[in-house]
Amino acid sequence: MHFKTIKIGPIQTNCYIISDNNEALVIDPGFDIDQILPFLEGATVNAIVLTHGHFDHVTEAFLLQAKTKAPVLIHEKDENMMAFTNKMKANRLLKNGDVITVGNEKFVVIHTPGHSSGSICLYNEKEKLLFSGDTLFHGTYGRTDLPGSSQKEMEESLKKLLKLPENVKVYPGHGRETTIGDEQGLI
Ligand SMILES: [Zn+2]
Ligand SMILES: [Zn+2]
Repeated sequence: MHFKTIKIGPIQTNCYIISDNNEALVIDPGFDIDQILPFLEGATVNAIVLTHGHFDHVTEAFLLQAKTKAPVLIHEKDENMMAFTNKMKANRLLKNGDVITVGNEKFVVIHTPGHSSGSICLYNEKEKLLFSGDTLFHGTYGRTDLPGSSQKEMEESLKKLLKLPENVKVYPGHGRETTIGDEQGLI
């Protein structure tokens, strides 16, 4: 498995393209799909996964869906937010514990409400990788003063994430990567 980070759109959202065995997964293609598409050539895109419903993560997801025919996945609690931004429906609604596969790799959906009520992280236990959306950042965490946010839920979600092994590498929705070990003591 390998993956590529592309910084996209007006607030430099991290879009991740994960590839394994000629299959690909795209996380948060909010903007600039013309930058994303060249990295998908020759691969079957299994899914377009949205970590939550904010515009900087979802706006061009359906343009990418039209180009790749891949289904768009979002947590059930953020579906309405995405529909508001995009006026389109997801193809599959996610719940905590759902599994998304790419090639021989598996990602488990961890529901981490707080930044939005349907925020998720994607965890690959074998490779010790976490794609954390706008929940956990390097040295901080996502805003909780937005509609649908909850500081209390955020703290519970962070506690859950910080119980993962310390050597898990964390790739957030904005900014540089970190590890679970480096974020101990965040809350
Ligand atoms: Zn956000
Ligand atoms: Zn964001």
